[in-house]
Amino acid sequence: MTFWKQIKYFKSNEFDSPSILKSGYDNMDEQFVRKLDALREKFGKPMIITSGYRTEIYNDRIGGAPNSMHVKGKAADILVRGEDAYTIIGLAYMVGLKGIGVSQKGRNRFIHLDDRDEPMVWSY
Ligand SMILES: [Zn+2]
Repeated sequence: MTFWKQIKYFKSNEFDSPSILKSGYDNMDEQFVRKLDALREKFGKPMIITSGYRTEIYNDRIGGAPNSMHVKGKAADILVRGEDAYTIIGLAYMVGLKGIGVSQKGRNRFIHLDDRDEPMVWSY
């Protein structure tokens, strides 16, 4: 997956399914990663990815959606809260990431972003 050389802000291993070396490199979708990189450029601050590519086995184990965009390499969960969450949702819209899942309650706060075709917003 040669496109990774052109990605400015992320390393492919940040998207690895847990314990599966190079799975981010091999399985992340180029268009999704390019959009996320463009979002990161506009955001101007580090972004922590808590989940990128998932094997089907891993996705099942953690109770992910059966047709999860993570399994297709077209999604990432970003550890953010508060004002940053608001900013990232706006930037997702700007770069054309149409799937936005919001978890902003309690300790486990993140924003899920994915590259689906039809716009969708949900909360966890
Ligand atoms: Zn997610």
